[in-house]
Amino acid sequence: MREFLKQLTTAVAWATTEPHAMQAYRQDQCLIAEAGQPLAVVRPATVGEVVAVVDLCRTHAVPLVPRGAGTGLAGGANALDGCVLLLLDAMDQILEIDQVAQSARVQPGVVNADLDKAAGEVGLWYAPDPGSRALSSIGGNVATNAGGMCCAKYGVTRDHILALTAVLGTGEVLRTGTATRKDVAGLDLKHLLIGSEGTLGVIVEATVRLRPRPQRLSTVAATFPTVQSAIDVVQAFGREFNAAATELMDRTTVCAVNAMTQMGLDEAAGAVLIAQFDGADASQQAERCAAMAEGAGAEAFATDDQDDGSALMEARRAALPSLERMGSTLLDDVCVTPHRLPALIDAIERIALSHGVTIGTFGHAADGNLHPTIVFDPADDRQRVAAAAAFDAIIAAALDLGGTATGEHGVGSLKTPYIRRQVGDVGTSLMHRIKAAFDPSGILNPGRGY
Ligand SMILES: Cc1cc2nc3c(=O)[nH]c(=O)nc-3n(C[C@H](O)[C@H](O)[C@H](O)COP(=O)(O)OP(=O)(O)OC[C@H]3O[C@@H](n4cnc5c(N)ncnc54)[C@H](O)[C@@H]3O)c2cc1C
Repeated sequence: MREFLKQLTTAVAWATTEPHAMQAYRQDQCLIAEAGQPLAVVRPATVGEVVAVVDLCRTHAVPLVPRGAGTGLAGGANALDGCVLLLLDAMDQILEIDQVAQSARVQPGVVNADLDKAAGEVGLWYAPDPGSRALSSIGGNVATNAGGMCCAKYGVTRDHILALTAVLGTGEVLRTGTATRKDVAGLDLKHLLIGSEGTLGVIVEATVRLRPRPQRLSTVAATFPTVQSAIDVVQAFGREFNAAATELMDRTTVCAVNAMTQMGLDEAAGAVLIAQFDGADASQQAERCAAMAEGAGAEAFATDDQDDGSALMEARRAALPSLERMGSTLLDDVCVTPHRLPALIDAIERIALSHGVTIGTFGHAADGNLHPTIVFDPADDRQRVAAAAAFDAIIAAALDLGGTATGEHGVGSLKTPYIRRQVGDVGTSLMHRIKAAFDPSGILNPGRGY
């Protein structure tokens, strides 16, 4: 092992085996998932260095855990005992923005918001917008197939990836996909890598699709007597037109956001809906949405003011950090087909009552993707047990409704117990056989995802 560490630390631009220095990289943002003690943390600067690290780990049968910005919410980037943590944050160059093709070629450590800012300087837009976009990396977004606010209209990360370069568990460098809008050449390896949570390959470059930047944004804020009435309105206007974002917060979440941001959202309401519309008809669609909300008993206003719209969306982005200030949290990420959302909300409310726990629910209403967040006191044994049981019950409710245990955060280490139930024995076994083809030695993020 001493020889391995010597070769490893000389193979890369930056490396440490010092326990104190490694501590900062052991865990992602899922604080309830276990994190082991790494053997070493390495920060390659080039694809060649990534290949060298993979080759060394393969030869010495050492697990390798890729890490982007560490904002993951499923424990997928957490250290495993005796692993090498592979930091991709130094590979952070935007290599090319092609205005004509409307695409960009980037290294994995580029922060989502930095790519969008650079695209914006030439009138283009990188649409996928996870709430963590100011921090999370494109490599991490690809590895988790990250979603965000604008998915119902524009799709998730997967819909914006044209080509990928990845270092496989064999040490081979795979280039897959093309910058073209259409490509049906052979099996779709690119889409296997997207959402693979570091288990099939280390993403070292991505070519992403950019879009023309929306010129106008109009925003609606509406306070509804109940969550159900808010969902009814989202579904009603969804039958007429697409919103760029439809973000929902229940009363618990609104109170938490007010406490942190002093936004002054209506705490008497059962739910607050923040919807944004873009394009030439944005104002008319926002007015129509506000009228529909008022027709359903809500208080609503529509605005074309960009600063007001941004402030409202920031309030929504503060939902998770605000709930985290109330205690320990178990954040869920369930998704059902939108017409089943009322049944899911109903189930979550019953689970909160029957388990005696506080649940703040927020999420992307038009996608059917909710983040019911259980807030509990970790020092209280009863609350801890009840929180875990409620977490299980929410996932079971989503699966019973034909939904998924994770809409966008991924399986990581947190949700592996639920995967077999969702994808079945045949699906699980095939996933393991696919992993064996990409990573025959099983060194890449073993035990995560499936
Ligand atoms: C406040 C907050 C809001 C959030 N909002 C959203 C949201 O709206 N939508 C959403 O989808 N997620 C959201 N997230 C979750 C998280 O930001 C995303 O999962 C994000 O894509 C993770 O990116 P990262 O760079 O931090 O990756 P990490 O956390 O570092 O890693 C995530 C996973 O990807 C793997 N990985 C990372 N980089 C690579 C690479 N280059 N090659 C191979 N594997 C790699 C890791 O091994 C791990 O399994 C939020 C998180 C926070 C803290």
